[in-house]
Amino acid sequence: MSSVVRDIYLVIGGSGFLGRHIVEALLARGDVVYVFDVVQRYHDVPFFSGDVSEEDQVSDALRKVRGFLRSESSRKRLTSFSQCGATCIIHTASPPAGLPTPALYWKVNVDGTSAVIRAAQAAGVRKLVYTSSAGVVFNGEDLINVDERRPFPEKPMDAYNETKVKAETLVLQANGQNGLLTVALRPAGIFGPGDRLMIKSLRDVYDSNRTHFQVGDNTNRFDYTYVGNVAHAHLLAADKLNEEPPSEAELRRRREYVSSIS
Ligand code: NAD
Repeated sequence: MSSVVRDIYLVIGGSGFLGRHIVEALLARGDVVYVFDVVQRYHDVPFFSGDVSEEDQVSDALRKVRGFLRSESSRKRLTSFSQCGATCIIHTASPPAGLPTPALYWKVNVDGTSAVIRAAQAAGVRKLVYTSSAGVVFNGEDLINVDERRPFPEKPMDAYNETKVKAETLVLQANGQNGLLTVALRPAGIFGPGDRLMIKSLRDVYDSNRTHFQVGDNTNRFDYTYVGNVAHAHLLAADKLNEEPPSEAELRRRREYVSSIS
């Protein structure tokens, strides 16, 4: 009987809106999950309190995951792992967009993401899935049917998007380095249960009587994705990293297919 190799996940930012949905989706399929965050909002999975921009705190969490796994009664089930530690980090932590604090974005998104990469490589973590943002290619103009081939704008819209560009680039450059495989996803707006940003902002606009303003001529459209689908995409991305990468010909075939239906 072939044994199924399961990953051990550390979800960074796992107390957040998207991070929590990722945790729930992993738990629902029976995966082993740990959470690292500056705040604890849930108590159903082992939690490590820490700041992602402090490499030793991320490394410490990875060491503790290893310790937990060794002492768990389910250890026998886990001995098929070459090293009893996290095999996949899903990194969703970031300050929310729109803050007037560039230094915070540089600290968390850029320093934090490089700390995650270094800690992951030192601990022998195999996979890193990073939550980037569709904003990394936004230059203030309409973007229609663009994909990952679109270059970053020369002038980023703001510090949030600039630091998401840097973080995403660091993650993708780390792919294949010191045994780490990486992928970055770029969600646009996310909606769904647990959102503390979008509906709150709309509510604030309503409560402060600012509803008579209109941006544009009311024909602009924007992509929003249900949070459960964004979480699912992260699981698919993590799973895909177990497979051989597609050939150039296969990538071309997929792009042609996407162009033909869009
Ligand atoms: P969120 O604020 O609900 O969750 C982020 C989590 O990260 C929080 O729990 C927060 O405590 C944690 N965090 C922040 N700084 C940290 C630090 N220094 N160390 C450790 N943990 C820290 O945000 P969200 O809406 O769930 O967004 C998750 C990810 O998705 C972010 O990377 C964001 O840039 C990206 N994203 C979100 C949207 C959206 O519409 N919500 C759209 C595109 C991309």
